[in-house]
Amino acid sequence: LDTSTLKAFENTAAGHDGALSDPAGELFIKPCTQAEVDFYQRTLTDHPNFAELMPAFMGTLSLGAPVQVADSAAVQEMLDSSQMHKGQTSNSTKIASETGIVLENLEHGFTHPNVLDLKLGSCLYDSNSTAPEKAARLDKVASETTNGSLNFRIAGMKVWNGKSFDIYDKIYGRNFNAENVKDGFATFFAGLTTGLKPDDVAELLETIEAEVAKARHTLERLECRMYSASLLIIYEGDSTALDMLMGGEPKTPRVQEKAPTLGEVKQSEEEEEEEDDPPVAFRVNIIDFAHATWTPGQGKDENVITGLKNIEKQMDQLISRLVE
Ligand code: ADP
Ligand code: MN
Repeated sequence: LDTSTLKAFENTAAGHDGALSDPAGELFIKPCTQAEVDFYQRTLTDHPNFAELMPAFMGTLSLGAPVQVADSAAVQEMLDSSQMHKGQTSNSTKIASETGIVLENLEHGFTHPNVLDLKLGSCLYDSNSTAPEKAARLDKVASETTNGSLNFRIAGMKVWNGKSFDIYDKIYGRNFNAENVKDGFATFFAGLTTGLKPDDVAELLETIEAEVAKARHTLERLECRMYSASLLIIYEGDSTALDMLMGGEPKTPRVQEKAPTLGEVKQSEEEEEEEDDPPVAFRVNIIDFAHATWTPGQGKDENVITGLKNIEKQMDQLISRLVE
């Protein structure tokens, strides 16, 4: 990793500023807490089923000694100047950017990724480790949003409109109630109906809903507590690319390639080894583990599981409205 080439990660759906990416767009790097790094590492060793729901964890960049990444000077510089780091001037928010976590960029491989961040839980903080003022503030947010009623809220989203991304900020999602939050889902998934046949739309929504259910089933067999984690849903916002992924015919016929010479064969074989995973129509992941811990003996995380159930219900409703 040549850290001098890192750039700002554009258009996150929600969350803090200060995320970075590499030139190839394969990595997502954000300032993080030690608790989040610990959760990733513990999950990789102890809970492989849950690890499948997370973005791949590549390591960390430390402002002290670099860990696992050779030259972190440029990253450190960028983290130093990031918004979160500025919090360090006040004593209370010191944690912010001592460490950058290096993750797989979940948007990689999409042409125009539409991204929906659904913040999970009706309780948004760990009562064992949260100051009363912050707890009160988060209780208020939950009570005024669908976090309180449905155990999830739309924290933010970005939707490709054919020319650029429409950005829906955190205020957008805070204004929904349990009855009208379905409009937020309809807005997010509207891109499907422009590019796909109705059958394909229903099929894709059902597949995404099944992935959410799968995530929930995984969590139902585990004992952890995740506060303010998010379900991140991504799907291909480029209608031509999406149609292709759903089995449509390519719009421009493939040009017959001339037979390669021996030298070229060798080169293309080498390239093949490094080739990325094939593009997919969508992804469903859980992210943001700053306040997540494994809690053996405490039973399943109902706070989060209820949120996932209600997201599945929203998807169900959307599918029935579309096939009407
Ligand atoms: P924060 O602590 O700032 O809330 P999150 O982990 O929730 O950080 O990430 C904020 C936003 O960044 C998400 O809404 C999503 O758009 C984007 N994001 C987070 N993790 C990834 C990832 N691995 N790949 C791509 N985008 C990501
Ligand atoms: Mn977040």
